[in-house]
Amino acid sequence: MSNLKLCQGTKCHTYTTQDRVKGTKGNKTNQTRRRSSFYYGNDNFCSVNCYNDWFNDFGDRAIDHFGRVTEPKHLTEENAWHKDYDYRRYRGEEDRYYFVNSITKEQRPLTEAQYNDSNYTINTGE
Ligand SMILES: [Zn+2]
Repeated sequence: MSNLKLCQGTKCHTYTTQDRVKGTKGNKTNQTRRRSSFYYGNDNFCSVNCYNDWFNDFGDRAIDHFGRVTEPKHLTEENAWHKDYDYRRYRGEEDRYYFVNSITKEQRPLTEAQYNDSNYTINTGE
């Protein structure tokens, strides 16, 4: 019936705050926080503490499951492109969008639509 979600923190219910106390007199319990949205951990945790508790309990297993980094990654010229822009609207000109290469510093122009398209890239490596 509600769209509220529960904090995924493994110890959320153990922190003593007034908003976690639920139930009637004689039947009160400390409960996991329930909200429409959370600020931490991609909207899954009510606090940095709860985020850290989860990671301390499950982080190693999650990393092993999704693939632990075992060798350094390399930023090369082929995958060093990122988007940037010059804000020029304030002086009556069009904003200027471009790719810039973190390694070579080369710039290549972009359209505003390409800039806003999160899938658009010219990077060829990982
Ligand atoms: Zn929590």
